[in-house]
Amino acid sequence: VSRNPGEVEFHQAVREVLDSVGRVVGKHPEYGRAKIIERICEPERQITFRVSWMDDRGDVHINRGFRIEFNSALGPYKGGLRFHPSVYQGIVKFLGFEQVFKNALTGLPIGGGKGGSDFDPKGRSDREIMAFCQSFMTELYRHLGEYTDVPAGDTGVGSRELGYLFGQYKRITNRYESGVLTGKAEAFGGSHIRTEATGYGAAFFVKEMLAARGQTFDGKRVVVSGSGNVAIYTMEKARELGGIVVACSDSDGYVVDDAGIDVALVQQIKEVERGRLAEYVQRRPSGRYVPKRQVWEVPCEVAMPSATQNEITGKEAALLVRNGCIAVGEGANMPTTPEGAQVFRDAGVAFGPGKAANAGGVATSALEMQQNASRDSWSREFTERRLEQIMVGIHERCYATAEEYGVPGDYTTGANIAGFKKVADAMLALGLV
Ligand code: NDP
Repeated sequence: VSRNPGEVEFHQAVREVLDSVGRVVGKHPEYGRAKIIERICEPERQITFRVSWMDDRGDVHINRGFRIEFNSALGPYKGGLRFHPSVYQGIVKFLGFEQVFKNALTGLPIGGGKGGSDFDPKGRSDREIMAFCQSFMTELYRHLGEYTDVPAGDTGVGSRELGYLFGQYKRITNRYESGVLTGKAEAFGGSHIRTEATGYGAAFFVKEMLAARGQTFDGKRVVVSGSGNVAIYTMEKARELGGIVVACSDSDGYVVDDAGIDVALVQQIKEVERGRLAEYVQRRPSGRYVPKRQVWEVPCEVAMPSATQNEITGKEAALLVRNGCIAVGEGANMPTTPEGAQVFRDAGVAFGPGKAANAGGVATSALEMQQNASRDSWSREFTERRLEQIMVGIHERCYATAEEYGVPGDYTTGANIAGFKKVADAMLALGLV
């Protein structure tokens, strides 16, 4: 804590992993001798830079850019870029730290990193977004490369932003290096299913958790927070698997629709028109908009937080349990606080932590890198099958590891230990570097 003052989200993420891996270090003294814990908590490289850009009125703005290259024992640094006013070092480090273990869990050869900026894209014109992305990449490009560091999207960074970022990378380097960014549009080297992958993957993970308890999505009420990339495709797949998605939200409030959320309408409002969720009820009479309240008050059996960190505290978790929630799949990163997670554990709720449940996005990014490296493009069906197989594999790994370490059904401990061991073994093999 004293080494990283004020970085509360990073402290929270590290504490959660260390709580789990104590069991492993006891059994493996070689990790202790090589100071793996101390090394794994220290990013290999942290980059902070100035991003200056001009808005449509001619005013100059200065933002701060970050890239945390956390761990490359398993492969090039891999992890998204987040554009949101709340971004600072502590958020990027927590996301980068989680990413290391998440990427290890996928079984694919990718290290962990994360980046972003405190830039707020809300209400900005297309030209302003492009100006910002170009300025951001003009500094970041020197640190990237398909064998070095490969960013993707995250909150506030979708295929439009990735297009502008890739365009500027290509212009500066004079290299059509498709594998340097993932989440690209299909028109220039993107993979089928990458846009949908995090949400689809989270739904597949919950399907596996339910199956492990002899249950299915069929007829279950599902509540999803957020209405961005992860939320939209979580809703789409949960519905396809038989769930009834009754509510979703944005940072202003939530919509509840007992007839089932019209996902195409949410997508039209949020992704195409870049509007606010409140507009949903003007076009869909069965919907009701509730401003300034948390979506977790809507009763459901399956909760899928897909907006941001720390959105389910002990209070919201207790309310969910009281209302009959039996499964939680984290589409977002660290949306549940440690107190919230404890409430779910005590109540026997099946709890899929983000680093397992939302790993489908980065896994499909790795599939995009494979396609780019072989100058190939796989079909949508084949890519989705690969994604589902990967999610089934992650579920199995977490489940089996939790059993092995005497905490059956504890996916958090299972995910932390399985991810940690994979990275720790690679670090040991690579020597003191
Ligand atoms: P988007 O920007 O597409 O959507 C974010 C959604 O969450 C929006 O509806 C937004 O509402 C809401 N939201 C964001 N911040 C807050 C906040 N502070 N309070 C309340 N609501 C908020 O982001 P993504 O869907 O890509 O990401 C969502 C989460 O999933 C993040 O935690 C991200 O790290 C995680 N994730 C994303 C992956 C990806 O592939 N995109 C991969 C793995 C994890 P509003 O529009 O009002 O801002």
